[in-house]
Amino acid sequence: MNGLVRVRGLVKHHGHGESLVRAVDDVDLEVPEGQTLAVMGPSGCGKSTLLHLLGGLERPSRGEVWLAGRRIDALSERALARMRRRSVGFVFQAFHLVEELSAAENVELPALLAGQSRREARRRAGALLDRVGLAGRARHLPSQLSGGQCQRVAIARALANDPLVVLADEPTGNLDTTATLDVLRIFQELRSAGQTLVIVTHDERVAATADRLVSMRDGMFVDDLRLAGTGTSTGSGRLGGLIGLES
Ligand code: ADP
Ligand code: MG
Repeated sequence: MNGLVRVRGLVKHHGHGESLVRAVDDVDLEVPEGQTLAVMGPSGCGKSTLLHLLGGLERPSRGEVWLAGRRIDALSERALARMRRRSVGFVFQAFHLVEELSAAENVELPALLAGQSRREARRRAGALLDRVGLAGRARHLPSQLSGGQCQRVAIARALANDPLVVLADEPTGNLDTTATLDVLRIFQELRSAGQTLVIVTHDERVAATADRLVSMRDGMFVDDLRLAGTGTSTGSGRLGGLIGLES
């Protein structure tokens, strides 16, 4: 196996006895560098748990999680936190921005926590906000931004430390169609730039822009499809074109 992200025999149980839930139930997965993987499945099938395991937010009950050739499931808490900060970018449905901080300060935070200078963190935050189309909103607080703008700030924040992989959990779940398309365009651009992405989604428009679609049910993978967009340099591909992302 040579995937950037790989898991083997991954199991995550919650609770025990009669209340035991097999949130992830013996999953093998390999995500090559540069791949955009979409994960779909009904509510409660284990998508968020899988994402948390991939990014070291939760530890598996059994099995192995590897990131860039390093086994992460057995790291100490401290090493795991450091790995998350430096190597993983998380994007959540509910944005999870710090409400007291401006857009720019939110984006600077991961770089500062990783030990970057204030100046370098600020420079990088400026460039990232520009990349997500929010250069003019750097000083705004989250409460002064729309949901779509907040999610774009959250994506910029996820990119702050140039992560090996971006893990997004229902990133458009709280967004209207216009904001969803804005976020999709950013993911498309990241994909074109070679960013490895795993996106959990209920939205077929989002899934259609991926290289690959895995379907989950009851903690297991029931389907693993290559999508038509694979290998296109524009990152939009045929399915992307069908849903109006070529422009
Ligand atoms: P999805 O993201 O696909 O909706 P989750 O990964 O959130 O699914 O949850 C998978 C299953 O694990 C669900 O049955 C859920 O109730 C259960 N679960 C998730 N987290 C916990 C937890 N911390 N404690 C107990 N059960 C949990
Ligand atoms: Mg979930």
